Amino acid sequence: MRNVLHAKCVTCGKIYDAAPGLTNCTCGGILDIIYDYDYIKSHLSKADLAGRQEHTMWRYREMLPVEDCTELPPLRVGWSPLYQAGRLASQLGIRQLYIKDDGINPTASLKDRASAMAVAKAREAGAKVIACSSTGNAASSLAGNAAAAGLKTYIFVPSRAPKGKVAQLMAFGATVISVQGSYEDTFALSKAAIDRWGWYNRNAAINPYLSEGKKTVGLEIMEQLQWVVPDYIAISVGDGCTIAGLWKGLKDLYAIGFIDRLPRLISAQAEGCCPLNRAIKTGEDWRPMAENTLADSIAVGVPRNADKALLAIRESNGLAVNVSDQEIMDAQKLLGRTCGVFGEPAGVAGTAGLKKLCEQGKIPANATAVSVVTGNGLKDVANAIASCGEPVSIPSDMDQLLKAFAERGIPLE
Ligand SMILES: *Cc1c(COP(=O)(O)O)cnc(C)c1O
Repeated sequence: MRNVLHAKCVTCGKIYDAAPGLTNCTCGGILDIIYDYDYIKSHLSKADLAGRQEHTMWRYREMLPVEDCTELPPLRVGWSPLYQAGRLASQLGIRQLYIKDDGINPTASLKDRASAMAVAKAREAGAKVIACSSTGNAASSLAGNAAAAGLKTYIFVPSRAPKGKVAQLMAFGATVISVQGSYEDTFALSKAAIDRWGWYNRNAAINPYLSEGKKTVGLEIMEQLQWVVPDYIAISVGDGCTIAGLWKGLKDLYAIGFIDRLPRLISAQAEGCCPLNRAIKTGEDWRPMAENTLADSIAVGVPRNADKALLAIRESNGLAVNVSDQEIMDAQKLLGRTCGVFGEPAGVAGTAGLKKLCEQGKIPANATAVSVVTGNGLKDVANAIASCGEPVSIPSDMDQLLKAFAERGIPLE
C-alpha cells in the first residue's frame, strides 16, 4: 500500500507494518493506520473525485488501506444520501441541518462500511472465515458482506439482539451463536473462539482497519457539502469506533488540504449507558457501566474503542450529550415526520442529542449541523411501534371508518 506508512499504537506509540491481519499492540493498545499524506495529495484531487462514477465508499480508494490489486467486496456500500432538513432545522432553531441516512446501506446500517473493509482485508490475508461479536449490526453487516464475497462467518450476539438483526444473520447463512449474557460476555466468548480457531477477526476493538472503513462517512459528508465544513456533526456512540472513524476521515481531509477547518463532534450516548460521555464530562478515566437502554446498538457497557473515541471527542472540542430512551423515541418520530427518514433507536440518538443541545441553548442559532442516522428503523420494529403508535384498526366498513375518524378527531382535508 503506497499510501500507508505503517500502523501505530495510540497508547504507547509502537510502530507496526500494516499487514492485513493486524490486531492489537503488545501493550494492549489499539492501532491507528498512518498515511503518507504527500503521496495522497499528489494522487488525488477534488476534481478527480468529482469525475468519479464509483458511487460507493471505494471512490476514496487513495485514502483507504487496501492494496491496488485487492478484489473489492461486491455489495454497494456507502455514498448514502445527505438530505437538507430545513423543516427540522427550523424546529430545532438552527440555521441549517443535514441528515446523512446511513440506514440505506445494503444491510441497513453504517456498519457496512467497516464490514466491507473487513472483507477486503480478510481477502488480502487469504482468510476463508471471518468472525465477530456484535450488538447486532456489525454482525448482520459482516454476514451480508461476507456472504456476497463467498466467505464463511461465525457470529456472536447477545441474546437481547432484536429479531430483525437476527433474521438478517440467518438469511445470510452465518453460524450464529446467541450468547445468554451481556455484550461484554458475548465479546469474551468470541475472543476465546477466535484465539482458538484463528479466524479473521472483525472485532472493531481489535482490527484497526474497521475505523478506516467507517471514516468514509466523514469523507462523503464533506464531499456532499462541497467541502464547506459544518459547525457540528452529531453521531451516536457505543464502542466508539464509529465516532473515531468519522474523526479520522475529517482529519485526513484536513491533512491533504481538502477542508480548511474541522467541525465539533457531538457524541450522543444513552443515559442508561454512557461510559464514554461520563469520562468526557468528569475528566476521569472511563469506567464500565450497565447496559440500560432500548438503543441496543449503543448499549455498550465496556467500550472497546474508548481511547480512540475519547481522543476524537476531545480533539474536536466536542460535546457529550446523554439522551433518555424517551428522547430517543421522540427523535425517531420527529425524523420520520419531518424528514421521511426511519432510524432505529441507536440510529437516531445523534439527532436526539443535537435536539437536546439546541433546547439547552448550547448550539448557536446560526450554526450548521449534520446528524448521522446510523441504522434503519426496520431493524427493530417492536420499539418503533412502541414509540410511534398503532394504526387505526377496523373492519372494511365505511360507517366504522367515519366513526373512527370522528372519535380520533382525524381531519379529512
Ligand atoms: C454500532 C452502532 C453505533 C455505534 O458505533 P460504535 O462504533 O459502537 O460506537 C451507532 N448506531 C448504530 C445503528 C450502530 O449499529
